[in-house]
Amino acid sequence: MESAVAAGRTRVQYDCNKCVAFCCSIYERVEVTTKDVKRLAAHFGVTPEVAEKRFTVHRFGGRILRRKRDPFFGKACKFLHPETRGCTIYEGRPQACREYPGKSRCGYYEVLQFEREIQDDPTIVPIVRLTFKKQLLKAAR
Ligand code: SF4
Ligand code: SF4
Repeated sequence: MESAVAAGRTRVQYDCNKCVAFCCSIYERVEVTTKDVKRLAAHFGVTPEVAEKRFTVHRFGGRILRRKRDPFFGKACKFLHPETRGCTIYEGRPQACREYPGKSRCGYYEVLQFEREIQDDPTIVPIVRLTFKKQLLKAAR
């Protein structure tokens, strides 16, 4: 069922145009479904086979978007513009991107605003990284 946020009935409290795109950077796994591959193919005017090979990779037990170097976070989605921080394939982006964050608030946007306000510096970018507890425990051994 479509959420009220996705349906546009709830006013969101974040502004992606004023964000550095944490979501397109810190998540290593952006799922690409078969329908997403077809949408990517149509967007670029290529066959689904070419789109899958060119834009996706099979990792972590699934098909995900390819990534590239990023000036802020080290790595980010292949389609994130490194300077504007906008999606370069907005109309062709996968469903997972369309649904994120799926709530009226975005925690990463709030961290960004909080840090900029508390340090009175609108240029600050807190670098966020996802680490899983089991990885930390393994590294500590
Ligand atoms: S992290 Fe949140 S506010 Fe920033 S671009 Fe992604 S959804 Fe938008
Ligand atoms: S396809 Fe666009 S919206 Fe999705 S992760 Fe990449 S840059 Fe972000």
